Amino acid sequence: MKKHVVLYKKLSAPLMARLHEQANVTLIESLDEGGLAQLRDALPSAQGLLGASLRLDAKLLDLAPHLEAVASVSVGVDNYDIDYLTQRGILLSNTPDVLTETTADTGFALILATARRLVELTNMVRAGNWNQNIGPLHFGSDVHGKTLGIIGMGRIGEALAQRGHFGFGMPVIYHSHSPKPLVEQRFGAQYRSLPQLLEQADFVCLTLPLTAETQGLIGAKEFALMGPKTIFINISRGKVVDEAALIDALQQRTIRAAGLDVFEREPLNHDSPLLHLNNVVATPHIGSATHETREAMARCAVDNLLTALAGERPKNLVNEAAWKH
Ligand code: NAP
Repeated sequence: MKKHVVLYKKLSAPLMARLHEQANVTLIESLDEGGLAQLRDALPSAQGLLGASLRLDAKLLDLAPHLEAVASVSVGVDNYDIDYLTQRGILLSNTPDVLTETTADTGFALILATARRLVELTNMVRAGNWNQNIGPLHFGSDVHGKTLGIIGMGRIGEALAQRGHFGFGMPVIYHSHSPKPLVEQRFGAQYRSLPQLLEQADFVCLTLPLTAETQGLIGAKEFALMGPKTIFINISRGKVVDEAALIDALQQRTIRAAGLDVFEREPLNHDSPLLHLNNVVATPHIGSATHETREAMARCAVDNLLTALAGERPKNLVNEAAWKH
């Protein structure tokens, strides 16, 4: 008998067809109030769940007593109550690797856009305010040869280091739980404590997950260690940063600029001061958002879900303990 899968993310026609072949599918088209009500109605018979950008907490999971597997269309799993899923023996999978290069591209786009003030100066041209050759008031800062600081030297951090080292001749320094000898060998990267990195990097880039340990990791104390020429880039999760302290550092110019793809609250509040700061480049959480990568992520999630529902171990299992359950 086919299992019941609830999707809260629309998939491409080929992937939908594949799922329909192997499961009874309920599609929740959007996560507005009506969609959430539909989701709550579908959960009691759901054995599989697939989607992203929804907080799946114990209260919601309790509506799904037959749930066997959850496939997240993301690498970050901060939206899931992993302990509770594990306790119930529900397999959680994610989509690492397929989004690594694209997310690193986004990181580098933010590095270039902030350093060369691309958005601010494009807006100036569009507004018809390019009236004479620009002078020092509008100069940016170099990227090539500057020190790239990476906090969280995992898959995406490494892809960023590769771009900086080979593409832009940047010395790379990094901070992670543990030193990474292979990365040091390949990109000449050097390990630093967090305070050392904040003091020494020209670009401070966050590429770590949101966990209980990293929530609020970068706050007023950390921004104070950076200098007035430092550019701060966040492509990890908004809550790793104390956003009020970031806004203060940008307004006081204790740091030069910020390139932000993620925010404490998403979508970003319309009255956020970040929207009015010239030294901010803000993108709407587009880290992995290309046609090719989003399709690859969805394919990966479907593979993971169907494997788990067939009683096998999905390739990208997050909660190993649930498998042994
Ligand atoms: P990953 O391979 O697991 O790398 C994360 C790295 O962070 C690990 O190497 C880990 O270090 C390090 N880390 C974790 N906690 C730390 C701490 N407290 N202090 C220092 N380092 C710490 O993950 P990934 O695939 O690179 O993805 C990283 C994150 O990027 C995801 O979790 C997600 O939140 C975010 N992301 C965002 C977007 C976007 O759209 N903006 C897209 C994709 C991913 P050790 O190896 O030493 O343990």
